[in-house]
Amino acid sequence: MKKSNKKVKLSKYLKKYSWQIILYLFLFVVSTVIDVFVPIMAAEAVELVTLGQTRDAIISFIILAVAAVASMIVAALLDFLYNKYSTKMIKAISLDCAMQAFKLDSPTYASHPTGNFTQRIISDPGRIINRLASLVGYISGCVSTVFVLCYVIAMNWIIGLCVILLILIVSVIEYFRSKNRNKNFKKNLKLNDRIVSITNEVIKSEKDIKTSGLEGKLSQIIDERYDDYFKQTIKTANQNLYFRIGRNFLTNISMYGILILGIFLMEKSLIAMSTFMLIYSYRGQMVGIAMYFSSLLDIFSDIKISLGRINELFDEKEYVTEKFGVKTLENVQGNIKFKNVSFAYREYNYDRNKKTGDVNITLKNEMPVFKKLNFEIEPNTTVAFVGKSGSGKSTIVGLASKLLLADKGKVLIDNVDIKDLTKETLRNSISLVNQFPYIFDMSIKDNLLLAKEDATDEEIASAIEESFLKEFVDTLPNGVDTVVGESGVKLSGGQRQRLAIARALLRKSSIIIFDESTSSLDNFAQEHIKKCIDGLKGKSTIIIVAHRLSTIRNVDNIFFLDKGKIVDQGTFDELYKNNQEFKEMFMVENIQDKMDE
Ligand code: ADP
Ligand code: MG
Repeated sequence: MKKSNKKVKLSKYLKKYSWQIILYLFLFVVSTVIDVFVPIMAAEAVELVTLGQTRDAIISFIILAVAAVASMIVAALLDFLYNKYSTKMIKAISLDCAMQAFKLDSPTYASHPTGNFTQRIISDPGRIINRLASLVGYISGCVSTVFVLCYVIAMNWIIGLCVILLILIVSVIEYFRSKNRNKNFKKNLKLNDRIVSITNEVIKSEKDIKTSGLEGKLSQIIDERYDDYFKQTIKTANQNLYFRIGRNFLTNISMYGILILGIFLMEKSLIAMSTFMLIYSYRGQMVGIAMYFSSLLDIFSDIKISLGRINELFDEKEYVTEKFGVKTLENVQGNIKFKNVSFAYREYNYDRNKKTGDVNITLKNEMPVFKKLNFEIEPNTTVAFVGKSGSGKSTIVGLASKLLLADKGKVLIDNVDIKDLTKETLRNSISLVNQFPYIFDMSIKDNLLLAKEDATDEEIASAIEESFLKEFVDTLPNGVDTVVGESGVKLSGGQRQRLAIARALLRKSSIIIFDESTSSLDNFAQEHIKKCIDGLKGKSTIIIVAHRLSTIRNVDNIFFLDKGKIVDQGTFDELYKNNQEFKEMFMVENIQDKMDE
């Protein structure tokens, strides 16, 4: 069990707007006072009229009118303050959550569905602030009701006591209702996360869904998730309803009781009729205190639940951030060494203790990939990792770029353990071009500027040229200012790949890794990328991961990988001559290519 070390403190966000909050509270008190005294004054004004004191009655009515206008102005001010500052606070929390999400490590992303992140970033902060604001309303409701209650007790203690007894009973019912509701609410949010996750997936996979006939089964899955969610929501709502029915029944019956009590007291001349009518007019408000109390319980728990969900992103138990060292390297030469590296992918179960928030982590699955893997790549050489799918090539890439951490052994850049490097040194020294690089819904130029904010037009032009994108960009009516759509949907696979390469080139990293960068491309597009990589030779350390051997004929060294082991290494010609399996792989590929042509 890991101890919690970081927490999101709500006070941090509230402090920043403390005078606005104080003003808000003050205005709320003003509006509450007006709300409490208006009925009392109105009753007195009516009495003054009946007593024939017209002048005083008129003054009372004028004061009432002023109070009504003041109440309207205060309400408007409250709205204004709320709209302006609640959004600012929500933004501050959301932004912190989004920034925290940036910091989480790759295994955390691999083991959690997207809905877990998006909902915590987008929904929970809003829920916290909205509930906090309504809290003020309910507290003021409580306070004003306490005043009313005191007034009633002062008028007639017998009725006062009966009302207090009723409030206590209703409060107990409400306490249990709220407890039950809050337990369900947490489940609701979890089920909602699942809906968001599948929705994200469906949107991203629209083309596959249409063309691979995935629609039927996926619709069923979506249907089931919605069903789970709404079943839970309805269950919560129904349970709430039963409690409410019980409570309303009790309060209505009790009100008749108080009416009968009033008649009895009037008969005995223990209370004046006008007093009793005033007290009776407050009946809803008096029982309302129990309702306010229960709403407060709901609100506190909503805040606690959402804050807890956000805190999960920060507390390093289930959602873990990347860690970096303090060592900087001035000029990275680009030497990479794996020293006795062992690595396994692991999947965990996270059981959160509902009370303490502690997480019990248990291993669910383990998939060992490497045991004592050793190799070295000299600076400014071009090397390739080849091997069957699943042999561990991408895992090497992940370890070399510190997306994954070795369980045992060391990964070294220029003889420094990558765990010791600062984030800047590490990230600046390595660029990775994936098989499916992510291109953003921006112009080509802006996609490149993401990689280097201060890149000049010349630098951008040369990155485009070196990645063999120029010919294509020149055909576009808006050139580099052409917007390419979300995940670069308006580009071909090869163009997307080359744009990602241009992005990597702009950063001028000492080490550039291409993971299956050409595997999804036709021979023509592959040729472009091959030329581009050839152009980089000798300038950076280049690692090419490929399962196609034709793309790596000219590299300095090839590591031949099988089931997590380097089974052979050498130049292409050496391996072709000495390694039967390598030779066969190449032959099969060539026959395939001939057939394609
Ligand atoms: P390659 O890139 O050579 O095709 P990988 O390095 O991606 O192979 O995968 C090596 C092995 O690790 C495979 O057996 C694969 O199933 C497994 N693997 C890859 N990624 C994960 C993951 N996130 N969780 C669990 N196992 C994984
Ligand atoms: Mg791979």
